[in-house]
Amino acid sequence: MPVRRKDLSPMMTRRGALAALALLSVAGCGGSVAATTSPPHWDYDSADGPEHWADLDRGFATCRIGHAQSPIDLDSAIELHPSEHIEIDYHPTSSVSLLNNGHTIQAVLPADSGNRIVVDRTPFTLTQFHFHLPSEHTVDSTETAMELHFVHTAASGRLAVLAVLLHADPEPNSLSRILTATPNRSGLTRTVATVDPREYLPSDLDQFRYQGSLTTPPCTEGVEWIVLRHPAPVAIADLDNYRTLFPHSNRPTQPRNGRPVVLAGPN
Ligand SMILES: [Zn+2]
Repeated sequence: MPVRRKDLSPMMTRRGALAALALLSVAGCGGSVAATTSPPHWDYDSADGPEHWADLDRGFATCRIGHAQSPIDLDSAIELHPSEHIEIDYHPTSSVSLLNNGHTIQAVLPADSGNRIVVDRTPFTLTQFHFHLPSEHTVDSTETAMELHFVHTAASGRLAVLAVLLHADPEPNSLSRILTATPNRSGLTRTVATVDPREYLPSDLDQFRYQGSLTTPPCTEGVEWIVLRHPAPVAIADLDNYRTLFPHSNRPTQPRNGRPVVLAGPN
């Protein structure tokens, strides 16, 4: 997990620290990696950055030797397959916790929230969403200002991530309620009253689909990726605020290694 114990406030009680670490068991791009011990440190800079993740812990070896890694560059010119799409079933949800985990702001949903996507008839439950700055996936080699990852888990434990590219926009929008409520120190959480994930999606739901990995250590493969082709807006003021907390948090694009990418039509 991405948080260092030294990042936790010295004013926190032991009980509070343990509770925070329990929340941290919901990994960055992952879903439910148990954090029973202090996790190895990693970051996005220099010696602890993406080029060195595999050197930081034996469990991170896949970050270097994997052949189906994420993110990747996506080609907008590929043919559309209108019959292949996923169902997105999101709705307003209360009691969502915002966690500053030291690498991103992560919104953790209640276990019974009922938000889900259906991929090839398999339901995946939404467990958390979080942000990267700038985007991790690129389209035609072009990044956007941010990327939003909705992380889902199937009953089998398999992960599916729905990614929304975010472009800078002058006006505040529904994401502002999240991005202006962000805890400003690692290990801190804050509860927001109601969140509606539908508001964060673009109107056009064309989807790139491919098989990839977590974009954070341990870079585990076997992740179903759905990247929406069209971006949604994020307010420039919210971007600037987020950047003060996390100046950059994107893993560079990885080799595609011949993996098929499908561009699927809207629901
Ligand atoms: Zn992510």
